[in-house]
Amino acid sequence: MNKKIPFIVLSILAILACSLWEYNVGYDNYKDRALDVDVHEGASSKTPEKKTAYITFDDGPSNLTDKILDILEENDARATFFLIGNQINDNTKGTLERLIKDGNQIGAHTYSHEAGEIYESADSYYNDIMKAEKAILQNTGIAPLVYRFPWGSSNAYIKPYRKEIIGRLAVKGLKYCDWNVSGEDSVGRPSASQIIANVRSNYSQYSEPVILLHDSATSTQTVEALPTIIEMYKEAGYGFGTISERSKIYQWKLD
Ligand SMILES: [Zn+2]
Repeated sequence: MNKKIPFIVLSILAILACSLWEYNVGYDNYKDRALDVDVHEGASSKTPEKKTAYITFDDGPSNLTDKILDILEENDARATFFLIGNQINDNTKGTLERLIKDGNQIGAHTYSHEAGEIYESADSYYNDIMKAEKAILQNTGIAPLVYRFPWGSSNAYIKPYRKEIIGRLAVKGLKYCDWNVSGEDSVGRPSASQIIANVRSNYSQYSEPVILLHDSATSTQTVEALPTIIEMYKEAGYGFGTISERSKIYQWKLD
């Protein structure tokens, strides 16, 4: 009888170890699900108590990026920059180092931004984003976790293979990010006051607005408008953050 006691004790310990392991595996799975995305369901989405504005700039780096970083720094604000891979080179190194050091976030936008090239097929889009990722990683040491489709995730070019692309990039750990407030600053050549008015039209509708602006060589009016846009949010009680700090990544609902 006594010889059986160690065997029983060992069996109990083994069962305990297995159940603890299962608990941990279950917890990890739960954590993955908790990081799920914020699928846009319209204006009825729940409202967190803390108000944070997520300013995003597409199409950089440009000759204006440093000015944008100055304004963000002066206002103690941070933003997310979705970069164009073929604009990153030795000359932009210092700017991107500062961008990161200041607490801003980098995402991938595209390598070429040529609709005819990137949206030809699922493969061409995938390869374009991977090329952008590589350019960003090689020049900044950072692999972006988010990307933004040129013209947003529901653009007509990508419709036939949108889900395939999103799935393939998700496997690589990449999530796409859309927006819910737009400065409309890349449509025509709007003035600073027009860009401000565009943002103002629905800036306080969301407690976590994701604001689309542009950082391209022609975005001088955006730079002009930026201090007022930041001030507008501050006065309405918003803080500022980067996309990965948002409760969920903002995405438009897929068809
Ligand atoms: Zn763009």
